[in-house]
Amino acid sequence: MTYDAVIIGAGLSGLAAGIRLSHFGKSVCILESHTVAGGLNSYYQRSGRMLDVGLHAMTNIVAEGTRAAALTRLLRQLRIRYDELGLVPQSTSRIAFPQASVGFSNDPAFLREEIARVFPAQVDGFDKMRTDLARFDEAAVGSEIEAISARQYIDKFLTEPLLREMLLCPLMYYGNAGEDDMALFSFIIMWKSIYETGFGRPVQGMKHVIELLLKKYEENGGELKMGERVSALRTGSGTSGEIGEIGEIVLESGQTIQAKQIFSSAGMVETLRLCGHDVGEADERVGRLSFVESIAFLEKPLSAQGVNESIIFFSQTMPFVYRRAEELADLRSGVICIPDNFRTGENEALEPCLRVTARASAQKWDQSFASGQYKEDKKTVSGQLQQVAETITGASCGMVLYEDLFTPRTIRRYTGKLAGAIYGSPVKQPDGTTPWNNLFVIGTDQGYLGIVGSMLSGISMANRYGLS
Ligand SMILES: Cc1cc2nc3c(=O)[nH]c(=O)nc-3n(C[C@H](O)[C@H](O)[C@H](O)COP(=O)(O)OP(=O)(O)OC[C@H]3O[C@@H](n4cnc5c(N)ncnc54)[C@H](O)[C@@H]3O)c2cc1C
Repeated sequence: MTYDAVIIGAGLSGLAAGIRLSHFGKSVCILESHTVAGGLNSYYQRSGRMLDVGLHAMTNIVAEGTRAAALTRLLRQLRIRYDELGLVPQSTSRIAFPQASVGFSNDPAFLREEIARVFPAQVDGFDKMRTDLARFDEAAVGSEIEAISARQYIDKFLTEPLLREMLLCPLMYYGNAGEDDMALFSFIIMWKSIYETGFGRPVQGMKHVIELLLKKYEENGGELKMGERVSALRTGSGTSGEIGEIGEIVLESGQTIQAKQIFSSAGMVETLRLCGHDVGEADERVGRLSFVESIAFLEKPLSAQGVNESIIFFSQTMPFVYRRAEELADLRSGVICIPDNFRTGENEALEPCLRVTARASAQKWDQSFASGQYKEDKKTVSGQLQQVAETITGASCGMVLYEDLFTPRTIRRYTGKLAGAIYGSPVKQPDGTTPWNNLFVIGTDQGYLGIVGSMLSGISMANRYGLS
């Protein structure tokens, strides 16, 4: 059998593309190397708890029914009702630098008020920048602005470097594959995902969201093969007999599959390698940024000590550092997420939890593993991350009931991302094309990041190439 489409990866972009294509009667098969769906944003069980791999929050959160919003568009395209996600909004979040602290929430007016309070001389510039950003349609921005620096763009409007760095910190931490600066393309997408809309958390965690997506896909008749790693994409003669097409998808098990079109969420470099291209580690397209995250379940909620923010983006230095770490964890900047500080209903109290993320060196973690130190280093770094959270929040973590830490090795193991690069390649491919005319990249390396972004990517690439 020749499928209309084969999708590599049952992460969020792959599932969204699969739902879209199968909804319109295409024969689709998703191939996933792991045994659990979800990719970078999956879940696992430990000590009787269901843990989300990476979930801090979904971005782009708007109220139900909001018109012309990315989230509303996404749900409509996937035929999912807003209430099915079980979203709970953030309380407020905060950007904490040594010199200043600025809050924001799901109401953009609050960020403006905060800037007026902390940086009164910058409000006019901030307003002008927002007006300018509003003229870009984030669903249509393309490679023509890929090369423009976000730092330089901000400097056209703001004269206070501290505010520029503070505004960049959440946007970079939640979706920048490059080091030190952001492409304007990514900046616009992330600005609208975080400051113009906001954060929400599926109260039942990612398992619920992934099961919802899988159900839709299966109801549409989509096929899913778990534990099936694609080991090669053979080029030469495709189903149409044309040179320049992928002809065969080869699985690690030795089986081969034919498809008219292939959508790969494995990453651009990873996909090129599957096609036999020798892309070395030094290639500029290889992502270099990886992270560690400690997850700690606490005996008592941090809100009992007056910490009420849902997420705190911090930098202990100015300017803030966002580049590949040289150590197991670079604690100069990072993200603190307190899931139980999202606004749950009265009867939905979540177990007190603290998640702390910082940049990490994939190489150092590999060395740690090779020298047999891995377990011990995980424990040490977990403690260091919790200590940083204590410094930034001024609260004590108290008794930790259960803790875990993911490292760049974890990311590479479960998603195949080279060097554990969560945000993939710094060189994005907004139109999703590859050198082969029936092979497209979706997800992270197409340019849309995060839970909502990767789903939008899967949908838009399926619409553009699979359904047109
Ligand atoms: C720790 C962490 C925290 C995060 N927190 C948030 C957050 O709070 N909010 C947010 O919006 N985003 C967050 N993200 C980012 C978000 O998870 C990702 O941007 C998004 O899930 C990417 O989806 P994707 O489909 O593009 O790629 P992936 O999730 O990487 O999916 C790719 C899939 O392809 C599979 N695959 C790869 N190669 C092959 C192969 N050869 N054969 C078969 N299958 C293959 C992989 O196993 C994987 O399942 C976080 C990510 C991490 C790692």
